[in-house]
Amino acid sequence: MALIGARTDMFLTEERALATSRMETVDRRLNFIRLLVLGGTPIALLFIAIMAIALVRRIKGPVRAMVQVMGDLGSGDRSARIEAAMQSREFERLAEGYNAMASELETAVADQVRSEEQLRVANLELSRNATILQARGEVIELLGGMAHRMQAARTDEELAAIIHAFVPRVLPGIPGALYAHNNSRNLLVPIAAWEGMEIDPTGFPPDQCWALRRGRSHSVDDADRDIVCGHVAPEGLPYHCEPLLAGGEVIGVLYLNRLIDAESQFRLTLLGENIASALVNHRLQRGLREQTIRDPLTGLFNRRYMEEALALEIARASRSRTTLSVVMCDVDHFKRFNDEFGHDAGDAVLQAVAAEMRQRFRDGDVVCRYGGEEFTIIAPGSTAVTLAQRVEIVRQAISELKVSQNGKALGSMTMSFGIASWDESMSREGSALIHAADAALYRAKREGRNRVVLAEMRAIAAE
Ligand code: GH3
Ligand code: MG
Ligand code: MG
Repeated sequence: MALIGARTDMFLTEERALATSRMETVDRRLNFIRLLVLGGTPIALLFIAIMAIALVRRIKGPVRAMVQVMGDLGSGDRSARIEAAMQSREFERLAEGYNAMASELETAVADQVRSEEQLRVANLELSRNATILQARGEVIELLGGMAHRMQAARTDEELAAIIHAFVPRVLPGIPGALYAHNNSRNLLVPIAAWEGMEIDPTGFPPDQCWALRRGRSHSVDDADRDIVCGHVAPEGLPYHCEPLLAGGEVIGVLYLNRLIDAESQFRLTLLGENIASALVNHRLQRGLREQTIRDPLTGLFNRRYMEEALALEIARASRSRTTLSVVMCDVDHFKRFNDEFGHDAGDAVLQAVAAEMRQRFRDGDVVCRYGGEEFTIIAPGSTAVTLAQRVEIVRQAISELKVSQNGKALGSMTMSFGIASWDESMSREGSALIHAADAALYRAKREGRNRVVLAEMRAIAAE
C-alpha cells in the first residue's frame, strides 16, 4: 500500500510536474500567439492597405485615361483613342472595345459629313442649274420672238433694227456687230452694231476672219498668243468672232468686243443659228423677189414690175396732185447687131444700154426693160418737158457709147424716145399713158430715129 501510495505520490508528482510543464508550454505558446497577434495585425493591416492602394492605382489609372478619352470624344475630338497602359487584361479588352467603337463612330460620322457635303454641293448645283435653265428658257423665248420678227422683216433696214434691238438683250453688256456676207462683192458688210460698238462701214473680205476660215469660233485676248483677224483693229482686242454658216456657205460673222463665258457661248450659238437662218431666208426671199421683178439679162425691172409700179405711181400722183411722166424708148436698127455680130453681141448692146440708162436716170425713176430692145422709164414728179431734158442727155450719151464684145468693136448705136405725161383723163392702170408714150416713140422712129419726141408731137432734139 505504501508502495502503491509512494508510487501514486510519485505519479502524482510527475503528473503535476508534467502539468506544470504543459501549462508553461501553453503559456509560452499563448504569449507567442499574443505577441504574434499584437505584432502581426498592424503588419497585416499595412499589407492590406498597401494591397488596396495598389489595387486602386491599377483601376484608377485606366479609368482616368478612359474618362479623359471619352471626354475628348464628347467635346468633338473624334480621333481620341485610349492609348495609355491599361495595367490589366480586362481593362485592355475594355479599351480595345472602346477604341473599335470610337473608330466606327468616326467612320460613320465622316460618312455622314461627306454625304451632307455631297448633298449640299448637289443642292447648290441643282439651284444653279435651275437658275441657268430659267435664264435659258427666257433667252430661247427671246430668240423665238426675234426669229419671228426677222422672218417677217421685208427690208435690210428692218432686219438690222430687229438685230440691233434683240442682240443686246440676249448678250447684255457685250458690244458687238453683225456682218452679213454680200455674195456679189464677196465682202462682209456691217448690218448692225450694238452697245456703243463703232464699225468701219466698208466691211472686209471673208479671208480676213479666222472664224470664217476655220469654220468655228475664234477668240483672242492677247495678240502675242494667237493670230488676230485682219478686220480687227489693235484696240478691238480682246474679241470673239462667231461664224454664221449654212450648208458650208458663209452667211456672216458675229463680232463681239469681249471674251465670253460658257453661258454666253451657249446664247451666242443659238443667236448665230437664228440670225444665220434669218439671213438665208431673207436672202432667198429677196432673191425670189428679185427674180420675179428683174430682167435677168440687163438687171433692170421687168415689164410686170413696171406695170405694178406704174399703177402705184399713178395713184400716188393723183392723190398728191403731182406730175408723172414716162419714157418709152427703143434701140434703133437693133436687128443689125444680131444679124451682123450674133445674138450674144445683141445682148451685150442691150446690157450696155441698160447700164447707161440706170446710171443716168434719177434714183426715184423706175428703169425697166419693156421687152426686146424696148425700155420704159417711170419718172414720178417730172413733167414731160423737164424729163425730156434728161432724156436728151441720155440719148446723147448712148449715141456716144462704144460697145465691144470679146475685144471686137460693135460700132455705135442710137435710140429713139417717146415721152408722155399722165393726166386725170387717162386710165388708172397706166395703159393709156404707155400707149401715149409709145405713140410718141413711133413718131420719133418715123421722123428719122435717134430723137426724143413728146406725146404732144414736139420733137426736142434731132440729129
Ligand atoms: P427699129 O429701129 O425700127 O427699132 O429697128 P429694130 O431692128 O431695132 O427693130 P426690130 O423690131 O425689127 O428688131 C428687134 C430685134 O431685137 C428683133 C429681135 O430678134 C431682137 N431681140 C429681141 N429681144 C432680144 C434679146 O433679148 N437679145 C437679142 N440679142 N436680140 C433681141
Ligand atoms: Mg423694137
Ligand atoms: Mg428697135
